[in-house]
Amino acid sequence: MQYLKIMATDIVGKKIGANYDQEPDTCPVCHRGISVIKTNQAFVSAVTDDSGWTGYLEILYRCPRHDCGRSFLAIYRQAVQNTGDRDWFFFERLAPTTFQAPQIDKQIRAVSPNFVTIYGQALEAERLRLDQICGGGLRRAVEFLIKDYLIQTQPDNAEAIKKTFLGTCIENYISDPNIKACASRATWLGNDATHYERKYEAHDIQNLKELIELTMYWIKSEILTAKYNAELKKKSKITTCPLSRYLSRRSPPPESLVGSIERRRQFPPELHAE
Ligand SMILES: [Zn+2]
Repeated sequence: MQYLKIMATDIVGKKIGANYDQEPDTCPVCHRGISVIKTNQAFVSAVTDDSGWTGYLEILYRCPRHDCGRSFLAIYRQAVQNTGDRDWFFFERLAPTTFQAPQIDKQIRAVSPNFVTIYGQALEAERLRLDQICGGGLRRAVEFLIKDYLIQTQPDNAEAIKKTFLGTCIENYISDPNIKACASRATWLGNDATHYERKYEAHDIQNLKELIELTMYWIKSEILTAKYNAELKKKSKITTCPLSRYLSRRSPPPESLVGSIERRRQFPPELHAE
C-alpha cells in the first residue's frame, strides 16, 4: 500500500512529518465525488516532544465543486507501530458532515409521512455516531411504516391495529409473504436494538436498515401491483367494423356498403405496379 506524507503542526507549533493512508474522494457537505483541493494544512492533536504522545491527525481540504466549495477536515486515528513509530495515521471520518435525507419512493411517503421523518432522524443519529439510539429510532420507524400501511389497507381494523403489539399486527394482518417475512425480521432486530439483552448477536444495524429497505420495496410492489390490477383490465374481443363481417360471408352485403367493399378489394397502389 502506498502511504502519503504531510508536514503537520502539533499543538505547540512544532512541525512533524505524518504518514497517512488515504485522501478523501467525497465531499461531506455536498455528498458528491470529488478530487480534493489540498491546502497543505495539517495538525496533530498532541505535544509530539512528549514520549508516548497520542493524538489525531487532521488535514484540511476543500471541495472543488463551484456550488459547494466548502472546507472540511479528514480525521485520521493514530496507529503506533511495532517499531515504536508514532507518526502513522489511518482514515477515520470527515467533518463536518451535513444531513443527507434518504431517498424514499413516493408510494411509501404517501403511506406514512411519519415513517419518513423517523427513519431520516434515525439515519441522522447513525451519521452523528449516536449508535446507542439509532437502533431504537429504526425500530420506531418500522412500527410507523407497518401500522400506517395496515391502517391504510384495512381501515376497518384501524383501532385494533393502533392498540396491538407490532409483532402481533404483522402476524394477524399482513397477508403478503414477502412483506411479512421482512417486516417481522426488521421488528426482531429493532427490538434487539432497544432491549437490555440482545438475541441476534450476528446481525446489526446495517442488517436492520437492509430489512427496512426490503420492507419498503415489497410494500411499494404491492401498492403498484394493486394499482395496475385495478386500472388496467384486459379488453374482451377487438370490435370489428361492419364491412369485414360481409367480406368473409357468401351472403351479399347491403347496397349501402357495396361501394366501400369494392374499394377495399383493390390492391393498394404500390402493389398494383406489375
Ligand atoms: Zn462539496
